[in-house]
Amino acid sequence: MTLTPERARGLLEERRAILSGHFELTSGRHSDIYVQKARLLEYPETAMEFAGEIASWYPDVEVVVAPAVGAISLGFAVALAAGARAIFAERTDGRMELRRGFALEPGERALLVEDIVTTGGSAREVHELIRSAGAEVAGVAALVDRTTTPLDIPLRAVVRVEAVSWEPAACPLCARGVPFDTPGSRLLRGSALSSEASSNEGAAGVRPWPG
Ligand SMILES: [Zn+2]
Repeated sequence: MTLTPERARGLLEERRAILSGHFELTSGRHSDIYVQKARLLEYPETAMEFAGEIASWYPDVEVVVAPAVGAISLGFAVALAAGARAIFAERTDGRMELRRGFALEPGERALLVEDIVTTGGSAREVHELIRSAGAEVAGVAALVDRTTTPLDIPLRAVVRVEAVSWEPAACPLCARGVPFDTPGSRLLRGSALSSEASSNEGAAGVRPWPG
């Protein structure tokens, strides 16, 4: 079964992982889209559907490498779908490393799996880690591509989300008088919302909006 970008996007919106509305980001800019990064993989059945799609793009993968923490569950799911091993890299003293006995063999065919790519910083580091181990990079796959500039790694994503934002004075939603939304307003308020947003590379941070 093929998972089209439209169906994937629809699933993420249905699961409230991608929200449409009017949001004020922690940067002060306004946006019409908010990605709740942690919720991308909240439903295992949906995650497996994404994983099966990603696995179908890359034949003969032997090991899936995911940057911790966000991509660990997707990496595991892709490895399950691909019949590959699942390992993850984690940041120690500022550097991405394989720890816990995880290792790559020279010549091994490795797929890098990331949940959401914005700047591509972590993905680029893990890409280099795989190459420096002498393994072959089968590709770089993500669930969501939010990049704003082209990357120097071969990224392929299930869903592309344009990261459009505006200065408040130029915001077309403000101009139309559209009220602000807060993501998961019943569940995420105050400090819970702030900590979720700040720990989140991919999601645009959202400040709670009074009223
Ligand atoms: Zn606005």
